Amino acid sequence: MGNLTRDFFIGLSNNKVLNANAKKWGFRLGAEKFVAGIDIDSVVETVKEQNGRGLSCTLDNLGEFISDRGEALVAKNEIIQMLDKIHEERLDCHVSLKLTQLGLDIDQGFCIENMTEILEKAAAYDIFINIDMEKYKHYEKSLDILKVLRKRFKNIGTVIQTYLYRAEEDLKDLKDVRIRMVKGAYKESDEVAFQSKEDIDANFIKLTKERLLGDAFTSIATHDHRIINEMKAFVKENNISKDTFEFQMLYGFRTEMHDDLRQEGYKFCTYIPFGTDWFGYFMRRLAERPQNMNLVMKDVFYT
Ligand code: FAD
Repeated sequence: MGNLTRDFFIGLSNNKVLNANAKKWGFRLGAEKFVAGIDIDSVVETVKEQNGRGLSCTLDNLGEFISDRGEALVAKNEIIQMLDKIHEERLDCHVSLKLTQLGLDIDQGFCIENMTEILEKAAAYDIFINIDMEKYKHYEKSLDILKVLRKRFKNIGTVIQTYLYRAEEDLKDLKDVRIRMVKGAYKESDEVAFQSKEDIDANFIKLTKERLLGDAFTSIATHDHRIINEMKAFVKENNISKDTFEFQMLYGFRTEMHDDLRQEGYKFCTYIPFGTDWFGYFMRRLAERPQNMNLVMKDVFYT
């Protein structure tokens, strides 16, 4: 896909009016293939089905552009309800969240208060919380908040985007933290991020291998079979235990590979987004993968 098309979808993902309107439409454009349901109750069966196949899950209650305290408190309460549900239903599942959902753009102290409440509940239930990484303008603040929260909580980790030049340096400070390695989903300038696919892939491979040689748990989050094969060969050559890492993929992507990896003895985790705020997430997936456009066309022309 050319950069122009990618930029077009990233632009749509950032459009506040479209994001707000899409919440009222219900799922459209084929989004239901990638967004598992509208609320926590509607995704419990999906998680159980995945768990039944030996796959663990991470749930993300989608939320974009939260700009007032009331909305952030609603998001926090919904995440706490998710934790209750995961606990009650004994799901093999952790939680992924975005700090902007919890007030990062409003007031950092307020965001930390919301996170503290979530982490206390999650720690009581022994559930891990992952801070998803957003656009670069939130990056430094997100790592600062992680640092504050790590002083009190061990059940928290984050994501490192290997398109960032500084990823290598930041990983040095995160040696004892559970990390999800990704290439990066947003449009960033060449002042902060590699731009070519070759450079981004090479940095992903190099930094993920370095992580795998360390002690902390690593989630290798990619749909790229070439990279997955390279990681499989690397762990074998280096006698790295399969308990120290997992592969992660997004719900609805390359489902044929999930069970295969599990059957080969690797841990596997499916990232399951849900909720009415699906538009931005879905547009970022279209930016990554042109083939997903077929679904949009089907929805537009055949419904
Ligand atoms: P790409 O680099 O897009 O594709 C590489 C190659 O893989 C393709 O050329 C193709 O051969 C193959 N391939 C890829 N997808 C498919 C497919 N569906 N079917 C067939 N072949 C395919 N980004 C963030 O910025 N922050 C986050 O917090 C974050 N969390 C994530 C969590 C998970 C579990 C995953 C999987 C991704 C996450 N991302 C996140 C997105 C990530 O940064 C990338 O944008 C995204 O994963 C695309 O990169 P890729 O390595 O999967 O594949």
